[in-house]
Amino acid sequence: MHRFKLLFIFIGVIGFSPFANAQQFTDLSQQIPFDSSIRKGVLPNGLTYYIKHNETPKQQASYYIIHNVGAVLETDAQNGLAHFLEHMAFNGTKTFPGKSLLNMLENHGVKFGKDANAYTSQNETVYNISRVPSTNPKLIDSCLMVLRDWSNSLTLDTKEIDAERGVITEEWRGKQGANFRNQAKLRPTMYNYSIYSERDVIGSMDVVKNFSPSELRTFYHDWYRTDLQAIVIVGDIDVDAVEQQVIKLFSSIPVVDNPKKRFFATIPDNKEPLYALVTDKENKNMELSLLIRSLNKYDNTLANLREFYISKIFNALIKGRFQEITQKGRAPFINGSISYGALVRGYNAFRITAASSPGNEARAFEAVYTELQRVIKHGFTQTELDRLKTNILVAEENGYIKRDQINTEDYCSSIKKHFLNQISIPDAEFSYQFAKEIIPTITVEEVSAMASQFLTSNNRSYSVVGPEKAGLKAITLKEMEDVIAKVEKKEIAPYVDNTPIDAQLLSSTPTPGTIIKEKQLPEFKAIEWTLSNGAKVVYRFADYQKNSVALKATSYGGASIYESKDIPSIGAISNYADSFGIGQFNGDQYKKIMSGKSANSKFSIDPNGESISATSTPADIETMLQLVYMRFEEPRFDKEKFNNIMFRNYKELKSQVRNPQSIIKDTLRSIEANGNPRSWMFNKKYLDAINFNRMQEIYKERFSNASDFTFFIVGDIDAATLKPLVEKYIGSIKGTGVTEKWVDHGNYFPKGHNQHRVAVPMTEQKATALLKIKAEAKYSRETVVHHTILGSVLNLRYNENIREKEGGTYGVRVMPGATLIPKTNLSLDITFDCDPQKVDYLKTLVYQELDNIQKKVLQSDLDKVVLNMKKNSENGRENNSYWMTALEWYYNSNENMLKPSFFDEIINTVTTKDIEKAAAKFLKKADIMDVIIVPKNNEQS
Ligand SMILES: [Zn+2]
Repeated sequence: MHRFKLLFIFIGVIGFSPFANAQQFTDLSQQIPFDSSIRKGVLPNGLTYYIKHNETPKQQASYYIIHNVGAVLETDAQNGLAHFLEHMAFNGTKTFPGKSLLNMLENHGVKFGKDANAYTSQNETVYNISRVPSTNPKLIDSCLMVLRDWSNSLTLDTKEIDAERGVITEEWRGKQGANFRNQAKLRPTMYNYSIYSERDVIGSMDVVKNFSPSELRTFYHDWYRTDLQAIVIVGDIDVDAVEQQVIKLFSSIPVVDNPKKRFFATIPDNKEPLYALVTDKENKNMELSLLIRSLNKYDNTLANLREFYISKIFNALIKGRFQEITQKGRAPFINGSISYGALVRGYNAFRITAASSPGNEARAFEAVYTELQRVIKHGFTQTELDRLKTNILVAEENGYIKRDQINTEDYCSSIKKHFLNQISIPDAEFSYQFAKEIIPTITVEEVSAMASQFLTSNNRSYSVVGPEKAGLKAITLKEMEDVIAKVEKKEIAPYVDNTPIDAQLLSSTPTPGTIIKEKQLPEFKAIEWTLSNGAKVVYRFADYQKNSVALKATSYGGASIYESKDIPSIGAISNYADSFGIGQFNGDQYKKIMSGKSANSKFSIDPNGESISATSTPADIETMLQLVYMRFEEPRFDKEKFNNIMFRNYKELKSQVRNPQSIIKDTLRSIEANGNPRSWMFNKKYLDAINFNRMQEIYKERFSNASDFTFFIVGDIDAATLKPLVEKYIGSIKGTGVTEKWVDHGNYFPKGHNQHRVAVPMTEQKATALLKIKAEAKYSRETVVHHTILGSVLNLRYNENIREKEGGTYGVRVMPGATLIPKTNLSLDITFDCDPQKVDYLKTLVYQELDNIQKKVLQSDLDKVVLNMKKNSENGRENNSYWMTALEWYYNSNENMLKPSFFDEIINTVTTKDIEKAAAKFLKKADIMDVIIVPKNNEQS
């Protein structure tokens, strides 16, 4: 069997890849080859199609239509219509009138917004129907029909257009805020007053509210046409059959006569630098940036691919230097970065950014620019480059091992990039061979030279974004240029790479424990090992995801064991402990010593428990277990680093601008906390309560006793390899034999039906409504599953009545939840944003549905929800993570997820009556926290 497999790969390589032998990439003027497993064709009418068979996930397929059309093609009178049109594709087509398109999809378990979606940008409009069951040929035909209708047969009914104006106005409202205002003011200089400055996709609300339907139909006719369209079908399908169907269905789409030219939107060059100063009451920090535009040539040669790797390496190396500076603490900037990447279609940008508190921006910008000059003057070091190359090659190799498991959605996304930018898609074989051969040839000089190559004197635009404050004098263009001139003249020392040489991860070799008991769990195909220190390890082999191993260790207790006064210190452990490093290494040294290793670990202290999780490749399993061991036996706490963090926290607290989001968050927290002494607000009192020694004590108490933990290991690793490593690194952790439980501190959620109306100062006219509904329940699997269904059914109701019928909001979010510890609690969070004038009315509709659902759940709604839940669970078991969850659940909750009674039986027998009853039972006992946030100015008028 083994030999056969090898032979097959060997033939595959010779047969399909001309680049398989070493030293094949000497002629870099060659074109990047196109993945031959993708069937590509162009119909006589100009429409391009791509079809590919792929089995990750099995028995599903995804369908895309890509239009090389976006907001830059709009006239002023159409500003916003590219995006408006995208919405209309879901509101009636020739084959699927009205809302029947979504109905058809939802009747096959495809969820709108999650599986079926669309987006519009400045240069493209893309629709997808993803993860559709592919076993039913009729459904494949229906999905192709949807693509066909989207290409050419939208109804664009006047009534539906008018109904959608409200939804889009609300989508626009949802985007409002300081960031939206900043971006609007930055656009003109960022894009040198080109068409990009005027097309933000969401468009002008004046246009959206008042355009005549014929304008939209014109845009549709002008731009949705076969020569600008591609369709993509990837999945567990028969490529030949689908291709025949595509040819049959799409060839008859007529070519548009005298088509308008699909022009490339250019950005004019500028010799003189551009400068924008943008202030807003809600901005907190000063954010400076220098952006230098350049043309992206979309060259398809191997030389360009090599160039791509060089710029990727440049970005990673300079990022590493900034991380090191931030890691040391007390950097003269809050954030600093330098990077090279895409700007818009056809353009790249070199970006130099610095964020600081107001008044310190010149110092911050100087520090960032100094790092660029350090590279220009002295280059990167060989050791920095070597480490990174090792990391990239290891990542390429890991990706190559998993090449048969590339997700269908990832293929769709590469094909999309290929169609829009005409960049070739090489297959995994080529990509790996190329990387393996080319990366070692990249020199430190080449990478360092990028810095000055990107730094051209043309096409510069400077921007300063800051708070609007009396007396605040922001840095000018002249001053920014002076900083640059000063740095270019000053002495800059070369970077010193102080890597510890030949250091071992562990400071000493642990004394192994032994496995004293072994128990089989045949149902799970797992083994439980009890170690001599009392720790339990549950192991299951799984290679649904190749080349990966995961570990999780869990224990009860968490923050609940501690008094209220310790809670800020526990929060600080979670937030800062990782920046202290581990073992003998600070964060920066740790990163260096881990280069070329694919292993990581993290810890978490939760309200009622604590855990450690880790992942690795099979090759690095020992490193992963060493890291887990170190989490227990060699944590690192760094007083100096801690002081730096706290210094910054106090400073931040002082300069804190209270923007609407933070006021809203605090308000909601304090209403919900309802006097709970364990609920803290972020303020001086909180910072004062953080204690460095206490942090260490608590961490050590949580992670010192292996016998209180169960370790779960699931992955692509055999028992014989794992066993001795488990004995060595888990068996050697201290164990006291004591086990803990959580402490119940009671429920402070406000009782009864509470209504709050809070006026918050904000610039935009936006109201937010939030309903938090909570009730204690008796735990059963049925209760939990029915509650989840209830949430999804409500979502469908709100989508129909509040979004589509009323055009009142962009969307009502419904989040059902269930917590089991310390007591079983069900919850339902319902939120939406809208026009302040409408919030009270829409709120009554929310309550109305809560009322209705107790009396009447529609069978059609239930069917849609059940189908979607079934579809999501179908491929579930063929996942490593499913088995991790199943084992964890079995040990911690004493329930077996594999049994049909856990999910399948409930979902197969659920009736509308069940959901009505579940709703009535939940709402009868529930406490309701009902909050409306309105703008302050609005309330006064
Ligand atoms: Zn939209």
